[in-house]
Amino acid sequence: NPAVTLTLRLIPYSDELWMLVARDVTRLLLLEQMRRDFVANVSHELRTPLTVVHGYLDMLDPEDNPEWAPMLAEMQRQSQRMTQLVEDLLMLSRLESQDSLPSEETVAMAPMLAALRREATALSQSRHDVTVEDEAGVDLWGSHRELHSAFSNLVSNAVRYTPAGGSIRIRFRRDGRGVALEVVDSGYGIPAAHLPRVTERFYRVSNSRSRESGGTGLGLSIVKHVLNLHQARLGITSEVGRGSTFSCHFGVERLRSRKPHPQPA
Ligand code: ADP
Repeated sequence: NPAVTLTLRLIPYSDELWMLVARDVTRLLLLEQMRRDFVANVSHELRTPLTVVHGYLDMLDPEDNPEWAPMLAEMQRQSQRMTQLVEDLLMLSRLESQDSLPSEETVAMAPMLAALRREATALSQSRHDVTVEDEAGVDLWGSHRELHSAFSNLVSNAVRYTPAGGSIRIRFRRDGRGVALEVVDSGYGIPAAHLPRVTERFYRVSNSRSRESGGTGLGLSIVKHVLNLHQARLGITSEVGRGSTFSCHFGVERLRSRKPHPQPA
């Protein structure tokens, strides 16, 4: 491919002179593309063997051989974790490879919030106080699948990084002319020095706690990419020992008026 990609920077040199710096980034972009393709291909290839392992593990009955029970349970846990990792890697490479959303639709927020409440309650197993506030009264324009996955990631983080007895609040509110979906927890919090990096792939504040929590280290990376594709912004505020707030800010162009849902007769 003879095309060359350059980045240009104009730097003030003196009162009258400017310096134009051109950098050939063709090779850099090519390597980045190779990295993405490689991750996508490996993840894709891992899917089938994992499905087989998972399937056979499900067929083994721990009661046939009780001393194997703890090992079987651990193998199941780890293979589930690997499956989640592969799914997250595939999702991330799909998100990274697109500049815009392939299809957009009206995303009904009342059922979305109801689904998030169910997920939080199921994950928490009644160990937290889960509340949902639907104050914005509008719907969003975007990709249902991607938005659901981003919001779900925030909700599952809130549950996983909040000790039992804490609270999780999911709030959909007006934000200037736009709206924000907020997930507020009363959990461990994130030290300020880590905040700028938590959306990087595999970045974790505390390795041991995050690993125990069962995450893949890709959740917030997925959230950031999904929001970018919706021209939305992720805001994070956090205080150690008091909790964190993750807010997804959507501009006015993403709002759609909410249609009344047909009530069952
Ligand atoms: P993980 O799968 O490890 O949770 P994420 O990308 O979702 O990966 O999050 C990156 C890191 O940010 C986590 O490992 C955790 O240290 C921190 N983190 C994310 N959400 C929260 C939260 N609600 N409270 C405290 N720490 C969080």
